Amino acid sequence: MSHFQFLVVGGGNAGISTAAKLLLKDKKFKVGIIEPSEKHYYQPAWTLVGGGVFDQDATERDEKSVIPDKATWIKDAVASFEPEKNSVTCVSGDKYTYDYLIVAPGIKLDLDKVKGLRESLGKYGVTTNYMFQYAPYTYECLKSFPKGGKALFTSPNTPIKCGGAPQKILYLGSDYLRRQGILKDSEVHFFSGGTIIFGVKKYAETLTKVVKRYGIQTHFFHNLAEIDGPNQIAYFDQYNTEGKIVGRVEQKFDMIHVTPPQCAPDFIKDSPLRNPNDPFGWVEVDKYTLQHVRYPNIFSLGDASSLPTAKTGAAVRKQMPVLVENLLSYMNGQPLTAKYTGYSSCPLITGYGRIVMAEFDYDSQPMETFPFNQAQERYSMWLLKKYVLPFLYWTRILKGTM
Ligand SMILES: Cc1cc2nc3c(=O)[nH]c(=O)nc-3n(C[C@H](O)[C@H](O)[C@H](O)COP(=O)(O)OP(=O)(O)OC[C@H]3O[C@@H](n4cnc5c(N)ncnc54)[C@H](O)[C@@H]3O)c2cc1C
Repeated sequence: MSHFQFLVVGGGNAGISTAAKLLLKDKKFKVGIIEPSEKHYYQPAWTLVGGGVFDQDATERDEKSVIPDKATWIKDAVASFEPEKNSVTCVSGDKYTYDYLIVAPGIKLDLDKVKGLRESLGKYGVTTNYMFQYAPYTYECLKSFPKGGKALFTSPNTPIKCGGAPQKILYLGSDYLRRQGILKDSEVHFFSGGTIIFGVKKYAETLTKVVKRYGIQTHFFHNLAEIDGPNQIAYFDQYNTEGKIVGRVEQKFDMIHVTPPQCAPDFIKDSPLRNPNDPFGWVEVDKYTLQHVRYPNIFSLGDASSLPTAKTGAAVRKQMPVLVENLLSYMNGQPLTAKYTGYSSCPLITGYGRIVMAEFDYDSQPMETFPFNQAQERYSMWLLKKYVLPFLYWTRILKGTM
C-alpha cells in the first residue's frame, strides 16, 4: 500500500490543474494522481469538431504529457472510498492512503437511459459531440443532410456538462444548412427536457432571437426516451410542469444530435462521499469552500462535485485556486477563507464566426470579464474560443498558472 500526502482522483481538467497548482505551492509535496485513461482531452473543442472547423486530433494528447513533472501517475481507476481509513481501493485491488484527498473524476454519460442510443450512435444519422469518437460524425451528418430533411437536436432533463453545448451545435448546424442554401426548405427542431432556453435572462434574450433567425422549432418539457436507429425515429417523453410524464411524441429524422443524460460516475454514486438525498449522486461539498461536508480532509471540484453551478472547464478554472487555498489553510490549522461564488462561463456559439460569451454566478447574475455587452454575438469571442482558449488550456490552465 502506497501513501500520498495529496491524492487526486481523476487526471482531467480539474485533477491535473489542481495537482499542478499544489506543486507550484511547494515542489516537495507528495502528489499522486489516479487516472485510468492513456489520453487527455480538451472537450470544449468537440463542438467545433462537430461543426467541421477544428481538428479532432488536436483535442487529444497523451495523459503522460499533462501529468505534472513531480507528480506520480497511478494508471488505475478508483473503485471505492474508505474515508474513515483515509484510503481508496482501485479496480486492480491496489489500495492507496492519503492525508488529503481531491476528488475530480468528471461526469458519467448515461447512454443506457435512452433506449437504442448506444447501438445507434455513429450510424443512421445519430450522433453526439459529447464523445470524442462521434464528434466528426456530426459534421458527416450535416454534409450529407438532404434538402427538405429534418434535423433534431436534444438536451436532457438531467444536469449536463456545458449546458450550452446542445444549443451550440443546434445553431452551428442551422448555420451550416443556411450556408448550403437548404435551411429554409428543411426542418430544425430543438427538443429539451428543460423548461427555458437559458437560465440567465440577459443571454436568453439574444438566444431567443437566434432561434427565430434560423426558424428553429423549440419543444421544452420533452425528454428523449428512445431511438429507433434503422427506421430513424426518435421518441420523446412529454412532461407537465409538475414533472409527470403526460405523453409520448414520435419524430422521424434525417439526423439527430443527442446530448446524453448525465450523472455522477457509479463509484461516486455508490460511495459515502455522495449526498444520499441527491438523485444524481455528486460528491457533497460546501458550495463556497469546496470542502466535503462530512470528511474535512476531502475536497472536490469539477463536474463530479455537488457545486450548484453550470458544469464547465471555465468553472473549474475559478474553483481550483479556491480549493487549493482552502486545502492548505486546513492543513495549517487555519480557517478556510477563500470563497467560490459559482462563476461559470459558456461561449454560446450562435453560428460560424459568432459567439455570445455568457459568464455568470450562483445567482444567475452576469459576471462578465470584458468591457462590452457580452450578450451581443461577436467575432472576437469566436477567435477566443477557437484559438486562444485551447492554447491557454494546454499551456497555462493545466499547468496551474491560470
Ligand atoms: C461537447 C462539450 C463541450 C464543452 N464545451 C465547453 C466550453 O465551451 N467551455 C467550458 O468551459 N467547458 C466545456 N465543456 C465542459 C468541460 O470539458 C468539463 O466541464 C471539464 O472537462 C470538467 O473537468 P473535470 O476534471 O471535472 O472532468 P474531466 O475533464 O472529464 O476529467 C475527469 C477525469 O476523471 C477520470 N476518471 C473517470 N473515472 C475515474 C476513476 N474511477 N478513477 C480515476 N479517474 C477517473 C477520467 O478518465 C477523466 O480523465 C464541454 C464538454 C463537452 C463534452
